Amino acid sequence: MKIDVGELHKKGSSHNYDLRGDLPDLRVNEDAGEARFPYPLRTSGMVTNSGLLYIVQGTVETTVVLSCSRCLEVFEAPLRVAYTQGFKRLTEEPLQNQDGNREDEDLQHFEADEIVLDGFLKDILITELPMKPLCREECRGLCPRCGANRNLAECGCELKEPDQRWGKLAAFSRTLGSKGEDDRQT
Ligand SMILES: [Zn+2]
Ligand SMILES: [Zn+2]
Repeated sequence: MKIDVGELHKKGSSHNYDLRGDLPDLRVNEDAGEARFPYPLRTSGMVTNSGLLYIVQGTVETTVVLSCSRCLEVFEAPLRVAYTQGFKRLTEEPLQNQDGNREDEDLQHFEADEIVLDGFLKDILITELPMKPLCREECRGLCPRCGANRNLAECGCELKEPDQRWGKLAAFSRTLGSKGEDDRQT
C-alpha cells in the first residue's frame, strides 16, 4: 500500500487516499495464542505536506483471526485503528533542534515520491491486538478438570475446591454479620 506524493511538492498541499491491500505473511505468536490477518486491509485518510514532513492521518481496518484465551476456539474480530504519523524523505537533511536529532525518533521514512505504508500499518495493527483475546465477554472457558469447552455443553464435573472456599467465606460472613460478642464466647 503506497501513497503517491508526487503532486504534493508545495507546502500545505494535501490529498486523500483510500487504499486496499493485504499482509498475508503477517502472523503473530503470542502466549495467549496466534493472530492471523487473512483478510484484506483497507486504509484511508489524508496526506499533507507540512514543509518538513508529510503528515499521514487516517484509519486502517481489517478482520483479525484470534484464538480465545479461555476456550482456545478460533474466532474473528474486526480491528480498526486511527493513526497520525509523520513521514520524512530520506534524501532530506535530518531534522534538528537544540537537543540534536531527537525529533527524528518517531518518524517513518520514505524514498522518492512514494510513502509505503505496509511496515507502519503492520506495527500499529500488532500494537492494537488484545492481550487476552476473548471469543465473547461471557466465555465460560475450558473445564479445569476434564478440558471440555463449557460454552458447548455442561461436562458435569464437580469442581469441589472452589465450592469449599466459597462455603468457608459464606460461613465467615455469617459469623461477622449476625453474632455479637456474647454469642461468640459461648
Ligand atoms: Zn472463548
Ligand atoms: Zn469437566
